[in-house]
This record gives sequence, structure tokens and C-alpha cells, in this order.
Amino acid sequence: MKTKPIFLVMSAPSGCGKSTLIDLLLQEYPDLVYSISCTTREPRGEEEDGLDYHFLTVARFRELLAEDAFIEHAEVHGNYYGTLKKPIEEVLAEGNSMILDIDVAGAAKVRHYVMHHLPVTDPLRQGYVDVFINPPSMEELRARLEGRGTDAPDVIERRLANAEGEMARAGEYMYQVVNDDLNLAYKRLCDIIDVKSGRL
Ligand code: 5GP
Repeated sequence: MKTKPIFLVMSAPSGCGKSTLIDLLLQEYPDLVYSISCTTREPRGEEEDGLDYHFLTVARFRELLAEDAFIEHAEVHGNYYGTLKKPIEEVLAEGNSMILDIDVAGAAKVRHYVMHHLPVTDPLRQGYVDVFINPPSMEELRARLEGRGTDAPDVIERRLANAEGEMARAGEYMYQVVNDDLNLAYKRLCDIIDVKSGRL
């Protein structure tokens, strides 16, 4: 079946299971390409450069900023994060789809750029869809972050405070999904993709 390329932006407070959901979607949809963000934070756990993120120095990040290489960038938890424009344009031009995992500030910038700076005929605009993933509750989010065991207590507190601010902006997204049950949340995301890409 001929499907339309989609440009999917997903945001969620950290600890909401977004990475697991994205991994499942990448297995399900072979034409979906993950946008590898640039960041100035240190790699965590098993993270690999060029796979999970492009881990950059602040100086290199600033160079790319000066070259206008990012579709958006933001400071999150004291580090810089940014999404490169070129890979997105290339993937969509090839007829494949792109998935971005970015924070609410970044998503707002991408949404503004797509809706106000691109013609309605542009593939990025035609395929654009954004989704916010909510945790079942703040208590559950705390338990997940503590259970993950990768972040220091002060980092966890910062992430929880940030989560409240992000959830307050969930209404800006086209869709919201609550990750109370992984299979159900995954099914809801598949439905969104299938409708947007014309599979359903
Ligand atoms: P983490 O450090 O836990 O991998 O990510 C922290 C936050 O940064 C998450 O909310 C994630 O969505 C966001 N993030 C990751 N990449 C980007 C990016 O390229 N741009 C923006 N604005 N946020 C990003």
C-alpha cells in the first residue's frame, strides 16, 4: 500500500516510557527514521555517540547554531539539545517518515516553523503530527525515575519539577496519550500513525 510520509514529533517528561514506545514503533514501521538529536550532555549508561545522540562539545554546538543547522534547539536540564534540519528534509524527500523525540519548548518551535514558515504543499507540513505522552501520575513518574537508577537524586528532582511544567503544555499538541499500560499506549500511537499516513 502506498503511504504518505509523516513527520512525527513526540514529547514526554523523562521516565514516561517514551524511548520504549519509540523503539516499538521503529520495529513496527520500517520506513520510520529516528531523528538523532545533538546534545552537550554526557552519555548515560549504554548510550552511543551517533546512535542515541550526537554528543557534542558546547563549542561545536555553537558552531552549528551559527550555521543555522538546527530546525530547533533548546536548553533542557542545563544542557543544550538541537535537531538538525538536513536529515529531516532528506528522509521526507525520499518518501520515508521521521520521528523526533524533543522537549515541549523544541516541539513548540518546530510546530511554529512548520505552520508559519512552510507552504501548505511542503512535505514536512503535510506530514506533520505531534503527540504528548503523559505519565499515569506524578507518583508513578517518581517511582519510574528512581527505579531506573541512572540519575542522581538532585537530577531526579529537577526532572520531576520540569515534568510538571511540560505537562501544563500538553494541550498544545494535536494528540495526548497516557502511558498507563504500555500495550494500550503503543496501540494508540499506531492508530495515530496509521491515520496520518493513510494506512487506515
Ligand atoms: P535526555 O537527556 O533524558 O535524553 O533528554 C532530556 C529531554 O531533552 C527530553 O525531554 C528530550 O525529549 C529532550 N530532547 C532530546 N533531544 C532534543 C532536541 O533535539 N531538541 C529539544 N528541544 N529537546 C530534546
